[in-house]
Amino acid sequence: MARILAIHAHPDDVEMLAAGTMIKLIERGHHVTIATMTPGDCGSAEFDAERIADIRRGEAAQAARSIGADYLCVEFRDMAVFNDDASRRQVTEVLRRVRPELVVTSSPIDYHCDHEAASVLVRDACFAASAPNYATGDPHPAEALPAIPHLYFMDAVEGMDRDGRPQRPDFFVDVADVFDRKRAMLACHESQRNWLRKQHNIEDFLGIMEKWSRERGRAAGVELAEGFRRYPGHPYPQTPLLENLLGLTLR
Ligand SMILES: [Zn+2]
Repeated sequence: MARILAIHAHPDDVEMLAAGTMIKLIERGHHVTIATMTPGDCGSAEFDAERIADIRRGEAAQAARSIGADYLCVEFRDMAVFNDDASRRQVTEVLRRVRPELVVTSSPIDYHCDHEAASVLVRDACFAASAPNYATGDPHPAEALPAIPHLYFMDAVEGMDRDGRPQRPDFFVDVADVFDRKRAMLACHESQRNWLRKQHNIEDFLGIMEKWSRERGRAAGVELAEGFRRYPGHPYPQTPLLENLLGLTLR
């Protein structure tokens, strides 16, 4: 059994971009923790920050529970995820507690500042987590990891960079057979319906997720898919762990 951490900026990002893959990993007997950097405290025009954060933590936990995953929130705040010293130590402590062999995080290039900051924070925390002299400052610090975990990036939202150029994944995961469960997971984030309509001009957030999954599916030659890239940097492990855990034949 492998331990997997899917860590992104906000509640609903993992559901949009990687939930089908997480469901498949759990079906194969692996353990998945879903983490968000923030509780989505700015994702509402109806509720104040504290109230919407409570609602969204609850929705994210319910979504994770529905597939047998754990959920945790790092408790940074929206638009305030930064790649700084204190935040890197905090994310490193999360990695040491969850103890994943495989980490899947946000794309380093994406539409939202929190997505990009989360990506670089997680990348560097993966390196720091196995350095025993790197102190997180936690009063009850977890032990350093035995090795740098395997690191993968999810797609950027819409599969595009900020200039609208398509980002090509390294490989695709066919999620057609678990798509109903992916959709049900995202549907747990009911509080986002009004917010996405107001701020993102998205009328139907379940429909837009399906549209993106179909576009990835078209590129993969299947009905519905999710795309991923393996972080190729020195000295991160380069064996194709995610692909192997899924039993993928690479295209
Ligand atoms: Zn987000």
